[in-house]
Amino acid sequence: MKVTFLGAAKTVTGSCFVLESQGRRFAVDCGMHQGNEEIEKRNLDMSNYRPEELDFILVTHAHIDHTGLLPRLVANGFKGPVYATAPTRDLMEILLLDSAHIQEMEAEWKSRKRQRHGDRLVEALYHQADAQAAIPLIRTVNYGESFEPAPGLRVTYKDAGHILGAAFIELTYANGAQSTKMVFSGDIGRPEQLIVNDPDPAETPDYLFMESTYGDRNHKDEQNSLDELAEAVGYSYRHGEKVVIPAFAVERSQQIIYSLFLLFRQGRLPKDMPVYLDSPLAIRATEIFKRYPEFYDERMKEFIKNGEHPLRMKNLKFTLSTDESRAINETPGPAVVISASGMANAGRVKHHLRHNLWRKGASVVFVGYQAEGTPGRKIVNGAKKITIFNEEIAVAAKVFTIGGFSAHAGQRELLDWLTAFHDQDMKVILVHGEPRSQKVLARLIRERLSLEVHAPDYLEELTLEPGRRMVPVLDEERATPRVDWNFLMKDSEHLFAELKTRLGDVGAKPWLDQTEVRDRLLEVNRRMLELISEM
Ligand SMILES: [Zn+2]
Ligand SMILES: [Zn+2]
Repeated sequence: MKVTFLGAAKTVTGSCFVLESQGRRFAVDCGMHQGNEEIEKRNLDMSNYRPEELDFILVTHAHIDHTGLLPRLVANGFKGPVYATAPTRDLMEILLLDSAHIQEMEAEWKSRKRQRHGDRLVEALYHQADAQAAIPLIRTVNYGESFEPAPGLRVTYKDAGHILGAAFIELTYANGAQSTKMVFSGDIGRPEQLIVNDPDPAETPDYLFMESTYGDRNHKDEQNSLDELAEAVGYSYRHGEKVVIPAFAVERSQQIIYSLFLLFRQGRLPKDMPVYLDSPLAIRATEIFKRYPEFYDERMKEFIKNGEHPLRMKNLKFTLSTDESRAINETPGPAVVISASGMANAGRVKHHLRHNLWRKGASVVFVGYQAEGTPGRKIVNGAKKITIFNEEIAVAAKVFTIGGFSAHAGQRELLDWLTAFHDQDMKVILVHGEPRSQKVLARLIRERLSLEVHAPDYLEELTLEPGRRMVPVLDEERATPRVDWNFLMKDSEHLFAELKTRLGDVGAKPWLDQTEVRDRLLEVNRRMLELISEM
């Protein structure tokens, strides 16, 4: 089985691993690349994806960094089935449409600017019609029920405990009498996370593709976050002002509502404090959450059984229309306003900041990651003034940053998850993480569990063989092998044997050191190119 890393390789976004074997070609996830311009260029080039040659796609969960390119693949010829859990399908429907809308608006904005310079117009990455065309391709699957998307391939989705419906994927691939087992972690959640279950353990695979977003740090616990939230809300209540909480629409908004529910229940917040969910996307996501109570954890089910639904609190109001949204700031008195976007760079939350940021006694509570350059980051960093809708607004509100609401396992939790099912010679392939975080996590896995760990590069290709052997695929064009040299040292003998059978005897011996391995491989590669040119 050959695997190509088309994203989430030494970076967090763009999750997509293409697997090829015996004439079959399929992908695990098809995420959008997000971040700087250089990384986002990867969204444009479809030549690596070759969508018309993909038989099917296995989707772990609805987040855009795992699904965001699906409409573009469909627009470029992908017709196969997409497998996902039912909540993932519903969430994909709203998130992909929203993403398409953003793509269209961005292209329009850029085009207008370019038109003024007489430049060529910018085409949207994809359109709402492409997102709509992708949804009927989705076939829903249940946790724990195996299915065969192709002969010889058995796939099982298990609960990843990350967001509603999120899964990690177990894949067993039979080749003659031998079989190879792989696990794709998707994003792994946290054991104490609200709403969703704890992540299931996996069955020991030969190869584990593991996310490493927080490989270098741990999160604060739930109690800490609740205390901080209580303090922020209490502060503005005493001053008769608003609490503005910029939050991502899916999972984070619902977690915040749940946290407020717990605080109201414990008598730590005044019962007459209204809570507004003021984001059409978050409202739609919450409606989807309500549709799937069987996906909640035991604690949430218990509350509901006792007639207390955290997402149906009496003082919780959904403000879908812009009129209702505007009315929030026209009504004096304290209130909690949960609104998107999470980094305050788009959406209705900008209006709430314009109305409240300058008010003493008001508060702004950040509950998620704030990227460099966003208004959220500037406020967190202590800016005295920020520009919203071309207007300078003074920052007089109290700013709170709560770090404990992550839906991603921290370092300790990732190690605990892995430790529960590893065996001696399982191989770990680290994905979905920045190099710094991967380095720390890789060291810990090597030290504590004595496992081999590899962090592949973007576009790297590996052959995963039965018997837990990884062989790099040589890049003929660049005449360099796409490999991690340190990792290969251990496998060099086997690698050489492999190359020898593929290319004929090239007169090399098993390798001794890294430089020699590299030189020999380059030599082999050169010979191969010669052989090809002679053909
Ligand atoms: Zn995710
Ligand atoms: Zn992710």
